[in-house]
Amino acid sequence: MQCVTSTAFGPAELLHRLRARTTGTAVSPVTHIERVPAREGRPAPWPSWTDPAVRDALVAQGIAAPWEHQVAAATLAREGTHVVLATGTASGKSLAYQLPALSTLATDPKATVLYLSPTKALAADQLRGLVRLGLDGVRPATYDGDTPREEREWIRQHSRFLLTNPDMLHHSLLPGHSRWGVFLRRLRYVVIDECHTYRGVFGSHVAHVLRRLRRAAARYGASPTFVLASATSGDPAGSASRLTGLPVTAVTDDASPRGAVTFALWEPPLLPTFEDSAEEAPPIRRSALRETADLLTDAVVAGTRTLAFVRSRRGAEVVAALTRQSLDEAVPGLGDRVAAYRAGYLREDRRAIERALLSGELLGLASTNALELGVDLAGLDAVLICGYPGTRASLWQQAGRAGRAGGEALAVLVARDDPLDTYLVHHPEAVFGRPVEATVLDPANPYVLGPQLCCAASEAPLTDADLALFGDAAAGIVQRLVAEGVLRRRPSGWYWIHRGRPEVDLRGTGGAPVAVVESSTGRLLGTVDPGSSHVMLHPGAVYLHQGVSFVVDDLDLEDAIALVHQEEPDWTTHARDVTDLSVVNVRSYVDAGPVGLFLGEVDVTNQVVSYQRRRIGSGQVIDTRPLDLPARELRTVAVWFTVSPQALVAAGVEPSEFPGALHAAEHAGIGLLPLIATCDRWDIGGLSTAGHADTEAPTVFVYDGHPGGAGFAERAYGTAAEWLRATREAIASCVCEAGCPSCVQSPKCGNGNNPLNKEDAVKVLDVVLGALPETC
Ligand SMILES: [Zn+2]
Ligand SMILES: [Zn+2]
Repeated sequence: MQCVTSTAFGPAELLHRLRARTTGTAVSPVTHIERVPAREGRPAPWPSWTDPAVRDALVAQGIAAPWEHQVAAATLAREGTHVVLATGTASGKSLAYQLPALSTLATDPKATVLYLSPTKALAADQLRGLVRLGLDGVRPATYDGDTPREEREWIRQHSRFLLTNPDMLHHSLLPGHSRWGVFLRRLRYVVIDECHTYRGVFGSHVAHVLRRLRRAAARYGASPTFVLASATSGDPAGSASRLTGLPVTAVTDDASPRGAVTFALWEPPLLPTFEDSAEEAPPIRRSALRETADLLTDAVVAGTRTLAFVRSRRGAEVVAALTRQSLDEAVPGLGDRVAAYRAGYLREDRRAIERALLSGELLGLASTNALELGVDLAGLDAVLICGYPGTRASLWQQAGRAGRAGGEALAVLVARDDPLDTYLVHHPEAVFGRPVEATVLDPANPYVLGPQLCCAASEAPLTDADLALFGDAAAGIVQRLVAEGVLRRRPSGWYWIHRGRPEVDLRGTGGAPVAVVESSTGRLLGTVDPGSSHVMLHPGAVYLHQGVSFVVDDLDLEDAIALVHQEEPDWTTHARDVTDLSVVNVRSYVDAGPVGLFLGEVDVTNQVVSYQRRRIGSGQVIDTRPLDLPARELRTVAVWFTVSPQALVAAGVEPSEFPGALHAAEHAGIGLLPLIATCDRWDIGGLSTAGHADTEAPTVFVYDGHPGGAGFAERAYGTAAEWLRATREAIASCVCEAGCPSCVQSPKCGNGNNPLNKEDAVKVLDVVLGALPETC
């Protein structure tokens, strides 16, 4: 085995070598290089209130002194102020809650602490850290679905530091609160780790689980202090307040030390266009997968240990295979030094790969984000990030894998062909400047609030005072639940009248997920949420599962089952749908002369009516086949803007071009929304029209794709000027002529991306931005 312990190249030289392949091309793929300098840590003295035993235990673990941000957050918590610490990866957020929590446990021998994490792996990791401290009487324990029954009783009675997750709180601890009465009565701190992961519908549910927790604790006489840890984001205090329902103070000034990183933004070049293509094809960029494979190849040839993050499992396999192939062509056998890595691998396989990478036996690894959580891999020379991973938190977590102690590292973000990635590589300030993306959730969603109020009522009758806890919308919803015969009013409150507990899934807004089953074997391949099932699982649809292709034979909506068989056709399928939207009410609006901006409730009717089969490779349309699926109704929250036809004409948009201009603006707007809200473009829908019955004007609607809304449209409304300016920039700065996937084309368009007018979309947005006040 040949071991490589260090590379001869620093990040600048390595980047130079990666660029060598593109020497001579007209446009450099590197759109920006950011040198993130090393940062000296700013330590602070241990707070005077720190229990000596706790301090000694931490010092024994090698923590000579805390950092300033840890002390700031810990001191606020100690004083009883709810606090969120929003700092970078590996900035030591654990210490910020361990200090006040463990000090309190040491001085008050009865006090208890509840810790919530989104994953079992993280809770297990935290448990190991607490056990290592070896403090007397803390008795930390994880409590999750895997905890054996015989241990649960002991944990309830003796543990003073309980590590669990929101699902366990929801399904077990809160319904059985009477058995937890002693623990709850003594509850001093609630720690919510990685709180930015509680977003959208799931986050809205968790917000109410936390309100139920606060109510249960109050019943037993406790009002714990909440300490939250978050990745850096826009408005961490606001998000934490929404999540807990409490005023929360944010600490964001990161005082931990950091190694220097050279961060390059990389846009794959446009492919040459062919004159004879069947349809008028837009220019296409080289795929991010291919580009990443080439960069990984060059990095391995240069002898640098490099990790490539790829969003999908299949993508990671493809990058590894392409890289191995080109390495073997260059030097037979060199391909063996590259591997793929994903979450589904067995533990032994994963450990073997990690060891091989650390020893230098492996030089290149293509991985899904399985490495993001819980695996310790240090000493990499470079990280390639194939496609923006969706949030800045993930981006920095992945980039943070590069760098050895004291050394410099290289990180490269390779843009995919979509509006957000394209925007980011041309707007480095959105990557490296002040974050604007906020963790978004909407506890007022009636489809979340209703079921959660039922849960609360089944735990203890709801009182008038309780309703305030659950928010302004709660009173109205309780009335509805009474009318529906789910709750009953008695003098002492509202009662849940059924025998069993309400069945509430924290990740859903009603409707069973559709099971995808292979007919020949009966094997369950996966599930698809009901909202996407018509698009993804219509009869004839090609469904990909872990890189294997299946074709849907039958979609049984009644039983929520799709039957599929394995088949590798040489076409892909694209559902076409028709959408109708009506405005139910307007919650808020801005009247800006020729432009109106609105937030409100809408009813969306969507019907998947046909699908196209397109040849793999050329994208040529083979045929369009009709489908017989029922229309679906969705009541949700939308943001929309209207523009007067006169203003559009004055800006140079011909009336015949209204539909294409608005449609293009809608697509790009949806593509850019994840910049300001932690959502996926698949969480959102849109509709544009040159004239709408309810608005009587050219209108673009963007709505939450979940019943009742998830907070995305609301965030878009609240930051409309910023969002639409980014949208305008994304379209205007795209080098394509008439629209491409990087700007105004959408992979999920139900109209086959027709009509689209890129140039006029910019004019529409200029009119809107010119009229809207800056403060929108
Ligand atoms: Zn374009
Ligand atoms: Zn469309």
